Amino acid sequence: AKERGRNTYQFFSSDMTAKALQRLTMENDLRQALHRGEFTLYFQPQVNVMTGEVEGAEALLRWEHPEKGMVLPARFIQIAEETGLIIPIGEWVLAQACAQCKAWQEAGYRRLRVSVNLSATQFLRHVELIRTVTRTLHEVRLDPDQLELEITESLLIQNTEEHVATLQKLGKLGTPISVDDFGTGYSSLSYLKRLPIDVLKIDRSFVRDLEADPDDAAIVRAIIALAHSLKLRVVAEGVETRGQLEVLRHLECDQYQGYLFSRPLPAAEFEARFLRPISL
Ligand code: C2E
Ligand code: CA
Ligand code: CA
Ligand code: CA
Repeated sequence: AKERGRNTYQFFSSDMTAKALQRLTMENDLRQALHRGEFTLYFQPQVNVMTGEVEGAEALLRWEHPEKGMVLPARFIQIAEETGLIIPIGEWVLAQACAQCKAWQEAGYRRLRVSVNLSATQFLRHVELIRTVTRTLHEVRLDPDQLELEITESLLIQNTEEHVATLQKLGKLGTPISVDDFGTGYSSLSYLKRLPIDVLKIDRSFVRDLEADPDDAAIVRAIIALAHSLKLRVVAEGVETRGQLEVLRHLECDQYQGYLFSRPLPAAEFEARFLRPISL
């Protein structure tokens, strides 16, 4: 039994060493990525359910790794959070998204709102966050209403006075606040009326089986009714089929995102496919 114990230990040990090494490499690469200009933003359309018009875009981070190719956020956001690198990366995302939005506006396209995801670390460092958002909007000379900030519902579960204060300060800047992954946080709904939020984004997991599962349909219906009674806009994520969109239209959801309309695209491609001049 002793021997088996030792072997088990060795097995885990070497496995963990490999993982730790991989992680360390990732961390070092991540440190260099900003300076080397390896990050880029993709944009996914936020579409009006009733009219089919593109009213906004969610900025989604991509890492063009010199050897690994395109790396998705699921592979590196957590490490960025743990190492604190998410702060400079998040600042870059915010600046880049605002600059792109301004550039499109100056090119004479119809007004578009750009949503940016905030990490937990960014949100918790609220003094820095508010300063950064204020400075970025000022530097880019972007109307605060053209930026939207997404925070995940799980962040709001604690519902501390500090979080309320942070959201109120962000809200005062004039930038809409969106609650991402709504419905997955299992939080009390009472916080909704206390917090200055503007948008609920229904998590993809409820949209997926919307047509087949009556429970999911009931949840989505309830979220939309709740949002509207609180005068919030409601966005469905991960819409992949016409059937899902039909249900959402029936339930009077405001906007949707998903592969049905478009995957996230590089800025130039997004512009070519979805942006229209004001005059037309
Ligand atoms: P999220 O904020 O929930 O973003 C939506 C994710 O769903 C995106 O994945 C998007 O590509 C994907 N998606 C969109 N439509 C569909 C669909 O119809 N079907 C399916 N299956 N997926 C769809 P992505 O770009 O890989 O981002 C994953 C997560 O990484 C995001 O989830 C967000 O939490 C985080 N993230 C992305 N960019 C940033 C960023 O700039 N900063 C921070 N802090 N987090 C980011
Ligand atoms: Ca999001
Ligand atoms: Ca989401
Ligand atoms: Ca999500």
